[in-house]
Amino acid sequence: MEKLLEIKNLKTYFYTDEGIVKAVDDVSLKINKGETMCIVGESGCGKSITAMSILRLIPNPPGRIEGGEIVFEGRDLLKLSEEEVRSIRGNEISMIFQEPMTSLNPVFTIGNQIIEAIMLHQNLSKKAAVEKAVEVLKLVGIPRADEIINAYPHELSGGMRQRVMIAMAMVCNPKLLIADEPTTALDVTIQAQILDLMRKLKEDTKTSIMLITHDLGVVAEMADYISVMYSGKIVEEAKVLELFKNPLHPYTSGLLASKPQIHIDKEKLYAIPGQVPSSFDLPKGCYFYPRCERAMDICEQCAPKLKQIHDGHYVACHLYGGEENE
Ligand code: SF4
Ligand code: MG
Repeated sequence: MEKLLEIKNLKTYFYTDEGIVKAVDDVSLKINKGETMCIVGESGCGKSITAMSILRLIPNPPGRIEGGEIVFEGRDLLKLSEEEVRSIRGNEISMIFQEPMTSLNPVFTIGNQIIEAIMLHQNLSKKAAVEKAVEVLKLVGIPRADEIINAYPHELSGGMRQRVMIAMAMVCNPKLLIADEPTTALDVTIQAQILDLMRKLKEDTKTSIMLITHDLGVVAEMADYISVMYSGKIVEEAKVLELFKNPLHPYTSGLLASKPQIHIDKEKLYAIPGQVPSSFDLPKGCYFYPRCERAMDICEQCAPKLKQIHDGHYVACHLYGGEENE
C-alpha cells in the first residue's frame, strides 16, 4: 500500500494559565492511498487536535506544534509557508466537521459558497463553476440541486447541510478528506445515509479518508485501519477486523465491551471505570493505569511504548512485554 500521509512524532501543546496541555503527545500515524483510517477515542483524547495540526489550524496562542513531521506526498506540511498550506487546504486536503451550521456561512446561499470554493482553487469561469456546483450537489444525493443552490443554510435539514459540506469538501477532488465526527449530530437514519455517501465517494474518487469518531459502530462500517487514542497518545493500531477480533489494549477491550449491541441488555452494558485523567495531572507511568483492571506494578512507574505484536498490529501496554520499555 502506498502512503499518502505520514505523521511522525507529532507534539501539539497548549499553554494555559493552569499549565501545559500535551493534547497530542508524540503521535505517529499513517494513511494509505485509497484507505479509510479511523481515529477513535473519547472526547478530549486529541483526535481533533491531530486533524487540525495536519491543516495547521491550531490557534496560536495558546496552541503550538512543538515537534514532529507531517509528510503529505513527500512534503513536510510543517515546513511549508502559510501560503503554500493555504493552497493545499480545501484543495488537496479537505475537512468536514460535526456541525455544518458552524462552517456554512448563514448569509450566503449554498450555491455561492460552493462556487466560491470552486473558484478559489480552480481556474474556471463563473458559468462553469455554477455547472460544477450543481453537478457536485447531485453527486452527494441532493434532490433538485438547481433549486437548492439558491437556498440558504437554515432552509435545509441537518442531513442536507452535511451533504452540502461534503459537496464543498469534494468539489476540488481532494486526495485526503478529514471528517471529524461527521455524523454525530445527525439521527441514525440520516447518519447511515451520510456514511453510505462517504463510502461511495471514496470508491468513485479514490480519496483517502481520515475519520475521527468516538463511535465504534461507525468505525466498524467505515474503517480499513484503526488508531485508538487515549490522553494524547496512540495506544493501539490495527486493521479493522483484527482490532475487533483481537483487541490487545485493555482500553480498546473496554471500548468494545461498552459498545451497544442489539442482543445485549442495556443494563448489562459495560462501562470503563473511572474517568479520563486531567491533562494537568497525568499519571507517571501508563496514562490508563488508574482505570485499568489488569494493571501491574510496572504500569504505575513506566510509560509503555507502542510496539508491533503481529503484522500491522501495534500496542502500547506492558502486558505484551515491558523489558525494552523505559
Ligand atoms: Fe493496563 Fe498496564 Fe497495560 Fe497500562 S500498561 S493498559 S495499566 S496493563
Ligand atoms: Mg473532537
